[in-house]
Order: sequence, then structure tokens, then C-alpha cells
Amino acid sequence: MKSHAKAVVIGGGVVGCSVLYHLARAGWSDVMLIERSELTSGSSWHAAGGFHTLNGDPNVARLQAYTVQLYREIEELSGQPCGLHLTGGVMLADSPERMDFLRLAHAKGRYLGMETELITPSEAKSMFPLMDERHFVGAMWDPVEGHLDPSGTTHAYAKAARKLGAEIVLRNRVTELTQAIDGTWKVVTEQGTVEAEHVVNCGGLWAREVGRMAGLELPLLAMEHMYLLTEPMPEVEAFNRETGREMIGVIDFKGEIYTRQERNGILLGTYEKAARPWSPRETPWDFGHELLEPDIDRIAPSLEVGFRHFPALENAGIKQVINGPFTFAPDGNPLVGPVQGLTNYWVACAVMAGFSQGGGVGLALANWMVEGDPGFDVWGMDVARFGEWASLRYTNAKVRENYSRRFSIRFPNEELPAARPAQTTPLYDIMLRDNNAVMGDSWGLETPLWFAPEGTEPKDIVSFHRSNDFAPVGQEVRAVRESVGITEIANFAKYEISGTGARAFLDHLMTNRLPKPGRIVLTPMLNEFGRLIGDFTIANRGPKDGADRFMVWGSSAAQIYHMRWFEKHLPRDGTVHLHRFDQTLVGLSLAGPKSRAVLEKCVDVDISKDAFRFMDFREMAVAGAPCMVNRLTYTGDLGYEIWMPPAYQRLVYAALKEAGAEFGIVDFGMRALLSMRLEKNFPTWFRELRPIYGPFEGAMERFVKLDKGDFIGREAAKREEREGPRLRRVSFIVEAEDADVMGDEPIWAKVGDQDFGTVEPPHGYGAPRFDAQGVETTTTGNGIVDSDWRVVGWVTSGGYAHSVEKSMAQGYVPAALSQDESAGLFEIEILGRRRPARIAVAPPFDCEGRRMRA
Ligand SMILES: Cc1cc2nc3c(=O)[nH]c(=O)nc-3n(C[C@H](O)[C@H](O)[C@H](O)COP(=O)(O)OP(=O)(O)OC[C@H]3O[C@@H](n4cnc5c(N)ncnc54)[C@H](O)[C@@H]3O)c2cc1C
Repeated sequence: MKSHAKAVVIGGGVVGCSVLYHLARAGWSDVMLIERSELTSGSSWHAAGGFHTLNGDPNVARLQAYTVQLYREIEELSGQPCGLHLTGGVMLADSPERMDFLRLAHAKGRYLGMETELITPSEAKSMFPLMDERHFVGAMWDPVEGHLDPSGTTHAYAKAARKLGAEIVLRNRVTELTQAIDGTWKVVTEQGTVEAEHVVNCGGLWAREVGRMAGLELPLLAMEHMYLLTEPMPEVEAFNRETGREMIGVIDFKGEIYTRQERNGILLGTYEKAARPWSPRETPWDFGHELLEPDIDRIAPSLEVGFRHFPALENAGIKQVINGPFTFAPDGNPLVGPVQGLTNYWVACAVMAGFSQGGGVGLALANWMVEGDPGFDVWGMDVARFGEWASLRYTNAKVRENYSRRFSIRFPNEELPAARPAQTTPLYDIMLRDNNAVMGDSWGLETPLWFAPEGTEPKDIVSFHRSNDFAPVGQEVRAVRESVGITEIANFAKYEISGTGARAFLDHLMTNRLPKPGRIVLTPMLNEFGRLIGDFTIANRGPKDGADRFMVWGSSAAQIYHMRWFEKHLPRDGTVHLHRFDQTLVGLSLAGPKSRAVLEKCVDVDISKDAFRFMDFREMAVAGAPCMVNRLTYTGDLGYEIWMPPAYQRLVYAALKEAGAEFGIVDFGMRALLSMRLEKNFPTWFRELRPIYGPFEGAMERFVKLDKGDFIGREAAKREEREGPRLRRVSFIVEAEDADVMGDEPIWAKVGDQDFGTVEPPHGYGAPRFDAQGVETTTTGNGIVDSDWRVVGWVTSGGYAHSVEKSMAQGYVPAALSQDESAGLFEIEILGRRRPARIAVAPPFDCEGRRMRA
């Protein structure tokens, strides 16, 4: 074993081998993989080997499609067969809601270039005759599904990596990780120590233990998972004989079952409700190639449904039941990327579907390590999406919930209950008890979503359509627009960046000029490739002891992601102090034409129009409590964001409510806030603004000062300006009926074969999405084939804009179309039906921004 390597990958399961292969393929041949036992000694050896492309997150779906494409490449390079069976598969819908879910998945697939198809139950039965079609209302066919040989595939990655120069060391456990002052990792193993620039935790079932070696508690948990294999079935043999084909894979959501053919019988696995964690605190090092005791009683309810839906199975003999553990993160997606707070410690773990996702995970991580950027949108699996609240217990509750809901529908207005409440503000009980709030989980923090009318149960009726929150949210919006409302905004990220180097540091990171003392600016942040990686509100607090002090507000969910970036660029000379407040600073937003009148009653300073102007920042006592006040709100109305230590929040809230009583002040929630931002065409971070767009594509040029001096991403932004953005963020007014867009819907345009040039799909992988040859002539939602219509873009978010009474959407379209407000040019596909849509270049509400400046 050599003593130095550029990178050491810990763990030889399918994920570690994929990471090793991709690193070597990207040109890092000085890499080694260290495996405790033999390759596949964790979850990988007993996997059912199924692969598919569908995933709730389109980015992860795309990554799964890449993984499947990759198998031929590694087979060729390694000479090792992966045992691929590309059978295709169907997902069966037993209810109209499930059919809506499939329509949505099918529509998302359109702009990702997936070739799914919605089919009838009898069409599904012709491919899988074991089913009783009377239990189903429809299905979705996906040709890119199948199964493979898990061990062969892992070895194919390993052999291919070796051919490219990578080293693999077996039967050698990593026991310790330490980092020297210069950043070099010392990887202590049973066979000696290796010094490495980078370490990658691909420890699978032991990823927590490998995390703990570096002081991390990674949010992942192993669950027991069972599948059974039947004896040969005459029905299967007859089908193979008659058609010359293998049976397809099937997912039956109702039964929480997946099936496929295995030899002459069937393999059937379940994601049962009575999910059981395995080794919840520690994974024993002596666990290896062994299985867990099967527990048929636990999966009996699923089997009962399965036997009803697929009657032939009831008479089939069971040859073997496999029960093995594999790991999940709280939301079921992988944990990938560099870990905040550490240098060159990378993770690729909690990959619950290694044979669907392993290739994409390896590619993303290798790009990230070698190029400094994953190359496409990996937020859905970025390890930075979890905060410190994702503790061992939180993870345990969430993973169990996620596992047991794996085949349940997640509605767009659905908040999941496990591990809640985690964090609460001092207003929590007031919101719940006095105000009848429906609360949601915002990055681990309880946040009011909307307020149910008195005497009604504060609960969402989950649906893909408009639901019971529609009217109350409308009332909240109208009350703000007509008078005044108040909401909690503790769920923003807040930082203070101070010190003698603070100005230079921020100036180098942000695209806008920094504000003068007492002023505020909005500013995007770019990476070196000129892509949007942040969107902040920055206020200048004024100097103290000769050092600048800036308050910075951003997206709550991106706190760790942004801290990772800030820390990477922080000067080492101690001239910049970076502080993340988390919930030690909480906020209230007061908005509406009467908001000044309300605030005036609670302060002892002049806040008149000219004394406290739009985009001013001031420290002042509100109801006697020391607060920081920003004169702006996300509602786009006259308003204030008021920030205070939590101990004062009840006092300030009570005072503002009392002062607002004469104006009929209302509480409003996040949904009303998001509705109001829609009619102002304001973007949101992680929906409209993501690391796949440039600032000109995102229509953020107002905040990009290319002439202010150097900043990260400036050259790329200049190029984007010079060449012109290929895509452009736009707002649409949609002729929706009883359902608004949810995000990720395809945008159609009547453009014939007009060529917009080759544009990378939003989620990477380089396949042209709408070049002239790729004209879509797909069957439309209402059954018409119309070759003039093509999918030209995708929706990022939307909903109902209550005060202008319009259904709205935001999304990206080719720049050439972005100013065209003609009726009849666009349609947006909502739940399988294409709705006319028209671009709104100017915001429908207060397009000149007079209200904010009032
Ligand atoms: C019953 C069952 C059915 C499944 N079916 C499917 C399926 O159909 N399709 C699908 O895609 N996925 C399936 N999976 C999940 C799949 O097995 C996992 O997604 C995949 O195996 C994860 O691979 P990994 O490399 O991350 O982890 P692992 O396979 O657990 O590999 C981790 C490796 O790291 C090594 N290691 C850990 N710590 C150290 C250390 N300190 N030093 C050296 N080496 C170390 C271990 O020995 C192990 O070999 C199934 C899982 C189970 C249990």
C-alpha cells in the first residue's frame, strides 16, 4: 500500500467504487480506495439490483438516468458484465390522486428528456399479465428501468477505475482520521497510515462511524429492508415463452410493493409502514456478509394487498426471504459534497438506491473535487441541506417516516409530522393557541403558513388542487394590501460579517456595491463560473471600533451551504469575523399601507417617509426592545422587517398587534407572503435562483455592478452580458382552473421549428433540450398532436396571486421569447392539462414600485 495519495476513498461498496472510477476518469489517477473487507461488504451485496429514473426531485431523477446510461461504459472498459436487464417498468395508480401524481411526474419528465408514457391498466396488463387490472385506474410506463447484478456492477466500477490507474486496498479498515495544520489528512488504517489531500467518506452502513472519526454526526440511519424470491412460476415461464420477453418491473404504490422477474419467478420487495431501524446508534464493525432475520409478519399487510393485486403470487412458493440493512438520510436523498467546517473532507453516503444513483453521485462528487463545482444542480443531495437540528434522534424519526411513506403521495401542500416541533420561536404557542395557525417546517423551525378561520381545524386538506387554505390566504393578502399585516420571519438566515477586512471580503463575494452606513442593498452572489449561488439583503450597521459591521440576510435552507462558501473565502488573517445567528435573532415583518402608522406608535424616533426611507436600516427600540429595522419587505409593499433577540419577540409582537388594532391588523403566514411576492415578480432562492443560472438569465442584472471592481464570477458574468443570456426568468399569468402550478411543469410554446440554439437542460448532463432537431410532437394533455407546439422551458414556482386575482408562474424560457407578451404563445402543463399562459414583463401589482417607496 502506498503512503501518499491525492485522495483516499473509504469504502468499497457501489458508491465508493463509482466515486473512485469518476475521480480516475476525471484525471486523478493518484487515488486509492480502502475497503475494510472485500468489495460489496456493506449493503451492496444483497441489493435487489433494481434501477429506475423516477424521483420526486428532477435533479436526482436526471442523475439516475445518467447512472443507467453509464453501465455500458464501465462494462466495456472493465470487461466485467453488470448483468443488465433493461426491461422497462410501470408504476400503477390505484386512485385519481395517484394518477395526478403520475401526470405530474410524466410532465416533469418532458423537459428532462425522459420518455415516460401514461397508459391504461389494460396496456399495463399486457406487459405484466400477473396483475388484476380492476384495481387500477392507470399507469406510467418508463422504458429506462430494469435490474442488474449488484456485485458484478460494483466490480465493473472497480476494475474500470484500476485500469485508469486507481489503487484498491482490501481487508484493511480505516481506524482513525486526523488532519495536520497544513490540511493533509492522515488516514490511519490497519495496514499503516496514508497521507492524503482529500478523504471521501463512502462508508455506507458505517458512514456515521467514518464521520465520527472527523467529529461529525452525519444524519443517516440504516433500515431493515425485505424482499422475497418465489419459486419458478408457470405464469412467468408462459409469458417468457409466448412473448420472448422478460417481465417488466412494477411498482404498486397501494401495496408499497415493487416486483420484477428473477430467473423464472418473481422478486417482490416492500416498503412497509411498520419500518424498523437497524443499529440506530452504532454499526458493529464485525457485521459483514450476513443477513438479518426475516419478519414476514411485518410485511404481511403489504403482501395481502399484493396477493389481491397480483393473484398468481398467492399460490407461488417462497424460495427465500432476504432481510438486509441500508442507509437513508432524513429526506431519502443522498448526502454528497464537502462538509462545512472541515477542509477536503467529502461525503458520498446515505445513497439509498446505489444502483440507480451511484453513477450520478460519483460524477457529481468527482466534478466537485476536481473542478471545484459539481457541474450541475445537486442541491437535492448536497450534505449542506441539513443543519445541526438533524440530530441522531431527528434522523431516526424522519428516516422511519420517509421509509414508511416511500410509496405514499407527497402533496405540494403537505407538511410531514415526524420530529416536529424541533425548533420553535417564543411566538409558537401564541400562533397555535390564539391565532389558529397551520404551522410548517422551515429548515427545522416551526413557521406559520396560514391562519385558519376561528372555529375551524387548523389543518391542510392535502391536494394537488386549490385547497382549504385558498380563501383564508386570500383574506390575509387582501388585508395586507388594503391595510396592514404582521408575520414571523425567524426563518431567514442571518449573519453578521464584521472586522477591518469585512468590506473587502464582502465586496469580493457579492455582485452589488456595498451599502453606505444605514443603508441596505440586495445582491446576488456568484461562483467562479458566474452562476448564482446566493441572493442576500445586506445592511451596513456602521463602523464600531474602526471596523465595519454588515448584517446579511439570506435563505434559511442555504445557511450551511453559504457558510461553507464564506469560510472557503475567509481571509486567514483574522480581519473578518463571521457570525451566524441562527435562532438567536428572530424577526417580524410588518407590511401594508398602514404599517408606518402602526410602527410609529411603538417607536420614539422619526420614521416618516423622508427620515426613514425605503432601503434604510436603523437600530431603534420598538416597544422598548432593542431592534434592527429594515425598511423593506418581501411583500413589495410599504413595510418593515424588525429583528430582535428572541427574549423580546413576544413584547414586540404584542405591541405591534395592539397598535395595529385600530387598522384591523391581521396575522399573515408564509403562503400569503409567497403569494404577494408572485404578483411583484420577485424570485425565490432555490426555485428561481439556483446555481444553474447566470445573473442575466435570472433577470438580476440590476444588482450586478460589473464596473465596481473585481468580484468572484465577474468575468463569467461579463461574458454572459456580452453574449446575452440564453435563457431568461419570466413571470406568467396562467389561465388555470382549480389547480395552480407547483413547480417543474413544462412550458410549451407555439414556435414551430424555430431554433433557439442548443441549450443545456436545467439539470445538467449536456443533452440538448430544445435544439431544432429535438422538436417535440408529443401527445398533448387533451389528446391532440400538434407539431407547432414545443416544450421550451420549465416552471420554477408559482401559485395564486390573491390581490391581483391571477394564477401566476415563474420559469425559464429561451431569452428570445422572454419579452413576448402575446396571448396564444405559451401553455403551461398543469396536472396533464395545458393551460394558456401569457408573459407578464411588468409585475401585475404596483409595477412602478410606488407602494414600497411610499
Ligand atoms: C435488501 C436490500 C435491497 C436493496 N435493493 C436495491 C435495489 O433494488 N436497487 C438499488 O439501487 N439499491 C438497492 N438497495 C440499496 C443498495 O444496496 C445501497 O444503495 C448501496 O449498496 C449503497 O452502497 P454504498 O457503497 O453506499 O454502501 P455499502 O454497500 O454499505 O458499502 C460501504 C463499504 O464501506 C466499507 N467500509 C465502511 N467503513 C470502512 C472503514 N472504516 N474502512 C474501510 N472500509 C469501510 C464497508 O465494508 C462497505 O464495503 C438495497 C438494499 C438492501 C439492503
